[in-house]
Amino acid sequence: MADSATSENSTASKAVNFLRHIIEADLAAGTYASRHWCGMPGSGPQQQAGPADPARIRTRFPPEPNGYLHFGHAKSILLNFGLARDYGGVCHMRFDDTNPEKEDQEFVDAILDSVRWLGCSWTGLGQDHLYHASDYFDFMVQAAEALIEAGHAYVDSQNAEEMRASRGTLTEAGRNSPFRTRTIAENLDLFKRMQAGEFPDGAHILRAKIDMAAANINMRDPAIFRIRHATHHRTGDRFCVYPMYTYAHPVEDALENITHSICTLEFEDQRPFYDWVLERIADCGLLARPLPRQYEFSRLNLTYVVLSKRRLIQLVTEKHVDGWDDPRMPTLVGARRRGFTPEGFRMFAERIGISKSDSLIDMTVLEDCMRETLNADAPRRIAVLDPLRLVLDNVPADHEEWCEAPNHPQKPELGKRAIPFGRELWIEREDFTETPPKGYFRLFPGNLVRLRYGFVIKCIGCDKDDEGNIVAVHAELQPDSKSGTPGADNYKVKGNIHWVSARHACPAEVRLYDRLFAVPMPGARREGDAEGLERDFLDDLNPGSKQSITAQLETSLKEAAAEERFQFERHGYFVADRKDSRPGTPVFNRTVTLKDSWVTQDKGKGK
Ligand code: ATP
Ligand code: MG
Repeated sequence: MADSATSENSTASKAVNFLRHIIEADLAAGTYASRHWCGMPGSGPQQQAGPADPARIRTRFPPEPNGYLHFGHAKSILLNFGLARDYGGVCHMRFDDTNPEKEDQEFVDAILDSVRWLGCSWTGLGQDHLYHASDYFDFMVQAAEALIEAGHAYVDSQNAEEMRASRGTLTEAGRNSPFRTRTIAENLDLFKRMQAGEFPDGAHILRAKIDMAAANINMRDPAIFRIRHATHHRTGDRFCVYPMYTYAHPVEDALENITHSICTLEFEDQRPFYDWVLERIADCGLLARPLPRQYEFSRLNLTYVVLSKRRLIQLVTEKHVDGWDDPRMPTLVGARRRGFTPEGFRMFAERIGISKSDSLIDMTVLEDCMRETLNADAPRRIAVLDPLRLVLDNVPADHEEWCEAPNHPQKPELGKRAIPFGRELWIEREDFTETPPKGYFRLFPGNLVRLRYGFVIKCIGCDKDDEGNIVAVHAELQPDSKSGTPGADNYKVKGNIHWVSARHACPAEVRLYDRLFAVPMPGARREGDAEGLERDFLDDLNPGSKQSITAQLETSLKEAAAEERFQFERHGYFVADRKDSRPGTPVFNRTVTLKDSWVTQDKGKGK
C-alpha cells in the first residue's frame, strides 16, 4: 500500500507487479527504515554519521555510457523512476563507467537527454542524484584490499587460457589455481604492484576466493580486478586496474544506499555473488547493513527491431542507417526524431507490465500507444503526399476564398483555421481514376465528390501527357455546396477527399518511414530453414523502410517549428524533423500511419 502522500502525486496507473509487492512488504516491515544518508554516496561509516535517510526507497538506472539508449532501456527507466516516485523514494541516475574502453562523453550527454525526454528526473528530496561509478574506484580498491586481508581474495597469475581450462563446466567442478594458496601478504603486495602499473595487461588478476566446486559457475572464484592500461574518459590514467562489472555493481549500489537493485533476468545467476560481495565487505566494516538486494525482471523483446547494443552499433558503423538518431532506429534519440512521444512510451510500459517470464512484444503494441497519444493531442493538417493537379474549370483563375477546417475533431476548443481555396488544387493521385473498381467513391468522370471542408465537385475528365500519364484532373464546382452552409446538405456524396490550393501550397520534403526490418524476428531461423543455416539479421532489413518524397502541404505548415507534431488527415502522424526542418522550409517525418498497415496490408492511406 503506497502511502497516501505519494500515491496522490503519481500519474501512472499502478498495475500490480511483483516488485511493487516486494517494496510494499519492505515498507510495511521497515526493512530499510534504519538506514542513514550522509548526503552523498559513501562507505558504511560515512553513511552512519549522517541523519536518517529521507528516501524511503532508492532505485537506480545504471547504463554503461557506451552507446545510445534503446526501447528496452525505456522499460527499465520508467520502472525504476516510477517505483521511486510512487513510494516516496528517489531514483539515482548512475553511469556505470567502470570499463575504460568504449565509453564516451557523447554517450553520457545523449543518455541524460533521453532520460529527461522520457519525463524522468534524478532530482529528488532536494538533491541531484547523478552519479558515476568511476568516482568509487578508490573505495573499490580499498574494499578489495580488505577482502584480501580477510582471506577472501587472491591474486591469480594463470593466463586467461589456464583460467578458462580450470573453471570446469556445468557438470564438472573447477580446479583450484596453483596461486590460490598465496599468503595474504603476498596477495596484498602483488595487488599494490598491479595498481602501481608494474605488470602488463593480463599478467595477474584479483579473484574472490569462494569455491571452485560451486554448482553456480559464477561463484567459482570470479574475477574482481583486472589490469588494463587504458585511459578512462573521467579518471584519465590514474588507474591501471579496473573492477569487473559483477564486483563493481553491488558496491556501487551499496555506496549509494540503494534498497532495490532491479536488473534484467540474465543477472539472476549473479545474485549469489552480489550478496557475497556485499556481506564480506560489510563484515570488514566498510558497508552498513541493511544491504541492497537485487531483483530481476524480464527484459523487453520487441518484434521488427533489434535491441542489442552490439547489433545497433553494427547498424550505425556499417551505415545501414543514418546514425544513432535515424528515425528508424529503436533508440530513444531515433524515436524522438521519428515523432514518438514520451507519453506513448509511458503508456506502453504500463501496458506491457513487469514480470519474470520472457516474452516477445508485438511492435503494434508500441505503435498503437504512439497513435493513441498522438490522436489525443496532434493538431490536424492537410498534406498531399502524391500530388496530382485538379483544375476547377468553372472557377476564375484569380478566385480566392477561404474555407474553415477544425484543428481537432474531438477538441473544438482547439479552434478552426482558415484554408485557402482557388481554381487549381493539389489532390492525391490515387483519389482519381478513369476506370473505377467496385466500391470506389472518389473522383472519376461523372462522379460527385466532396472536397473536405470545401465544396462538392463533379469530375469531368483528365489531361494526359504524350506517354498517357494523367497530368491533371478537371472538375466543376457546385457553388451552393460549401461545407458549413445550408446548401451543403443538398448533396449526398460518398467520396470525401483532401486537397490544398496549388497557389498557396508549400512544397516540402516528407520522409515516409516504415519498419527497419521486414520480419518479426530479425536474424532468427524460420520455418523451412535448412538445418544449420545461420541467418544474418542484416539480411532481414526492410529495403523500403525509408522513402523521401516532395509533398504539397497546406500553407500553415510552412512555419512549423522543429519537433511540432501533426496528424496529416487520412495519412497518419508526422513530425517536423528536429535536425533538418526550418521554419519556411519544413521537413516532415512520418511517425506512424493512421492504421496498422502491417496488419491490414493497406499501405497506410486511410480512407
Ligand atoms: P550491454 O550489456 O550490451 O552493454 P545493455 O543494453 O545491457 O547493453 P546497459 O547500459 O548495461 O546496456 O543497460 C542499462 C540498464 O538497462 C540495465 O539495468 C539493463 O538491465 C537495462 N536494460 C537493458 N536492456 C534492456 C531491455 N531490453 N529491457 C529492459 N531493460 C533493459
Ligand atoms: Mg549491460
